[in-house]
Amino acid sequence: MKDLKHPVVIAVIGNPVKNSKEFKVQTYKGVSELLNSTDNIDLIVWTKSPDYDDMVLLRRDARFLLCLIFYTHDPREDRTKELMDGVIQLSDWYATWQEWKHLSSRYSKVATEDGLNDREMLARYLWLRPNYKLSPVLDLTRPRLYIYPLAELISGTVHNVSGWLDQLVSDDLLIADSLVDRMRLCRSCGDGHLNYVDTCPQCGDIDLEPEVAIHCFACGHVAVQNTFVKNGRLSCPNCLTALRHIGVDYDRPLESLRCKVCQAFFVEGEVVAHCLACSHHQKPEDLRIFPISHYRLSKHGQQLVLGRLDKHLDMHLGEEISLKHFHWQTNWCLGLTERNDPSFCLLALRFKGLQNLADEIGEAPAADLIDTLAERFRSVSRSTDLVCRLDDETYLKLLPSTNAMGINPIKKQMISIMDLIEVTGSEHLSLEIHHLALPDERLSGEDSQVLVARLLEVGGT
Ligand SMILES: [Zn+2]
Ligand SMILES: [Zn+2]
Ligand SMILES: [Zn+2]
Repeated sequence: MKDLKHPVVIAVIGNPVKNSKEFKVQTYKGVSELLNSTDNIDLIVWTKSPDYDDMVLLRRDARFLLCLIFYTHDPREDRTKELMDGVIQLSDWYATWQEWKHLSSRYSKVATEDGLNDREMLARYLWLRPNYKLSPVLDLTRPRLYIYPLAELISGTVHNVSGWLDQLVSDDLLIADSLVDRMRLCRSCGDGHLNYVDTCPQCGDIDLEPEVAIHCFACGHVAVQNTFVKNGRLSCPNCLTALRHIGVDYDRPLESLRCKVCQAFFVEGEVVAHCLACSHHQKPEDLRIFPISHYRLSKHGQQLVLGRLDKHLDMHLGEEISLKHFHWQTNWCLGLTERNDPSFCLLALRFKGLQNLADEIGEAPAADLIDTLAERFRSVSRSTDLVCRLDDETYLKLLPSTNAMGINPIKKQMISIMDLIEVTGSEHLSLEIHHLALPDERLSGEDSQVLVARLLEVGGT
């Protein structure tokens, strides 16, 4: 973003609007025209109703992820609104200008580093918009019925966004704000599409019909009305008391049901939750309770954006770390080996064929698959292993207290995880694992950077 002395450039997508004194306006017919241009844009205004897929494309472009994007006509879908900064009136450019000035001054405070990870991106997005909260949007086509469009977009995953958000909450980056809904999900598959049916408490069948019943006050007997009728009068078949006055001698239970299969008669059926996705039957109390909340940036998250926290000290064991931290830690371990020789291993994991996979099944599903694999690798890692994601296809690991002998079972475990995936196109994908057992395989004078370069060289083409 440029400073305030320069004219602010507004990209208008849709119908052209008049220039104003404060702004230079550039009109684009559609998103692709804007994405293909190299124009420097300060903010974007849609003068036609924005489309969700177009907004996703726009936000996915690093230039526009954090950019202010307004609309003059309401988007048709709520999920589109979630990716935008709200409505503006063309007659009120001044409000837009104020908004932009505010964001722009915030921009200048944020360190504009490259290579931010997705959580840092989300933190920046939220920090730039102090009033914005991540909001759930109802989507009945999804297993959990609610989606978080911005979180999906930034994390690049659709399957485990709630897991990602939970992690950000437990890392104190986000706060779960006001509760929007409380879902009940299938215990077996996690889906929220459930049907609740009354069933017979005796045989479990659902074929029940209501029946008029009588409750005898004298003995407490409850049964269908016709069993109480004798010679045209009412009397209890159990204690033989004549039932004359309703409310005094007897009453009628409100809901009485008869099972048409086993003829059992009962006041209330047993409610069973039937999962429409996986057909699992379960008691309602066994369903998973799943809160749906707004999320906002925590104090800690705000400080993180402003760079006032030492991110290195703030890491939790087992989390991914930056390359800088990875080198620092490796050098530290190398230093230790010179004192008392505790061996350790460096590992490079490289997913080969990612592009072929993406061509076959699409960019996003391919990225999801890699995330799922990374997650499974994490689950078999020790919490003391250090992991660093070098690029889309390469991970580095530092395994403390591991020697050349110890590395083989770990490699085998990882290969077996790869063999387990059953996604179409996954045959294009293979995993290469290369390692260096240290200090044995260290050449004189090699430090972490050189070692990692050598490791990747071996793993290179
Ligand atoms: Zn029954
Ligand atoms: Zn009775
Ligand atoms: Zn289910």
